Amino acid sequence: MGSSVTEDTSRVTARSFPMIIDGQAHLTEAKSPVRNPATGDLVGYSPICDAATLDAAVAAANAAQIAWALTSDQERKDACAKISAIISEHASELAELLTREQGKPMKGLGSEFELGGASAWAGYNSTLEMPVKVLKDGVDGRIEQHRTPVGVVGSITPWNWPVLIAIWHIAPAIRAGNAVVIKPSPYTPLSTLRLVELINEVLPKGLVNSVAGDGDVGAMMSSHDGISKIVFTGSTATGKKIMKSSAGNLKRLTLELGGNDAGIILDDCDPATIAEGVFWGAFINSGQTCAALKRLYVPDNLYDSMCAELVKLAEGVPMKNGLDEGSALGPLQNQMQLDIVSSLVEDAKACGARILTGGAPLQGPGYFYPVTLVADIKPGARLVDEEQFGTALPIIRYTDIEEAIADANRLDVGLAASVWSPDKERARAVAERIEAGTVYINQHGVLDPSVPFGGIKGSGIGVEFGIEGLQANTDIKIYNFAAD
Ligand code: NAD
Repeated sequence: MGSSVTEDTSRVTARSFPMIIDGQAHLTEAKSPVRNPATGDLVGYSPICDAATLDAAVAAANAAQIAWALTSDQERKDACAKISAIISEHASELAELLTREQGKPMKGLGSEFELGGASAWAGYNSTLEMPVKVLKDGVDGRIEQHRTPVGVVGSITPWNWPVLIAIWHIAPAIRAGNAVVIKPSPYTPLSTLRLVELINEVLPKGLVNSVAGDGDVGAMMSSHDGISKIVFTGSTATGKKIMKSSAGNLKRLTLELGGNDAGIILDDCDPATIAEGVFWGAFINSGQTCAALKRLYVPDNLYDSMCAELVKLAEGVPMKNGLDEGSALGPLQNQMQLDIVSSLVEDAKACGARILTGGAPLQGPGYFYPVTLVADIKPGARLVDEEQFGTALPIIRYTDIEEAIADANRLDVGLAASVWSPDKERARAVAERIEAGTVYINQHGVLDPSVPFGGIKGSGIGVEFGIEGLQANTDIKIYNFAAD
């Protein structure tokens, strides 16, 4: 193990960020550079965890878990409140680091927004109650239902909203009496490593441990017998691998996976009124959001005017380095994502679709792909059927609402969807027929810490947030007293 937790040194350019294991900073000889996706500049170095170091992190978590499982509800609530407070205190430092490694703008729906959400989610968990339920209390005995901690929670996170998703995993696990080992994405590890360093200033050592590395480290976690639950946010393909490799000790699983959210506009909408909501529902975080609007269905009578309104917005939105003043959209986060978006748009062109704006990567440094609106595209084209997770939106024309509903439900994912109409009851009637974990009406992608969130079909298993998300970090334990 290396030196103990250090003071705020994260502003020093290109420093090595340590993993925190049992409250101690741990650097490794092998390290991996993390670069700003807007410029290619070096942001810092991530350590690379090996099997022995993962074992040490899991052992530290299991040791801390024993005492933590005996703490009162109040102590666990206080811990969440402390996490919330330390995030707020260091929000500007963390936001800058997040922008530098992830690419999103500092302002608007960018890093400061993400840090605000992280603090709010931790704070929300500090308010949650899990009272004992008395199922029976009478002459024939008394039965109590308790919620006990699952044990050590292994958290594996993606690169799109890394700090917010880390807190979505950590806060309810801690509130429920568990310890955590978290592994961030190798694309954006630094803000999470720093977050865990800060959390270790206010929580008992060993309760929240960080490890860093690629999918191999995630795979070791999902098959590790010292981990009782995996909470994973990422792609459906990886979720399926985790499900297979976690069978050894029957791990509990929460899987928040990919989506391909349909947005269906009904024929009584006013395009000018809804365009902004549709646009940001699709392009928040440069489209790299699990529950972003990824397929837009527009009726014949509104098709041309809806396209025109969206083009107006697309061409006015400033896309630049997230550190620059006035940036509203940043680059895609990595070369792989740029290649996916480029290839889906090229395929759309080859299928005869019409590019209304954008359509090719921007010249110069960084993974910038302009907002790209693709019209006259048909179901079956890859841009419609596959998750683009980036700045390209297919706009599909429909004549009969039955076609749009059938196509929205055709794919094997079901994270979220939206229906747009001034007539809420008409919208609700369509929403009732859409297969998704959340159906928004006249908005898309809004999240709330008190509202359960999760996907159906290939979009996941279980929910996060709300009391149900907290309970997913517990087992049910029954005390069954015989009659006197
Ligand atoms: P990814 O699945 O490639 O990686 C996610 C994490 O899993 C990373 O930390 C990665 O290192 C790790 N990993 C890779 N292989 C692994 C393995 N075999 N075992 C265990 N862990 C492994 O996903 P990504 O590219 O980082 O994120 C994009 C995807 O995540 C998109 O599909 C998106 O829709 C989805 N996502 C979903 C939600 C949600 O809440 N549903 C939120 C954000 C992102």
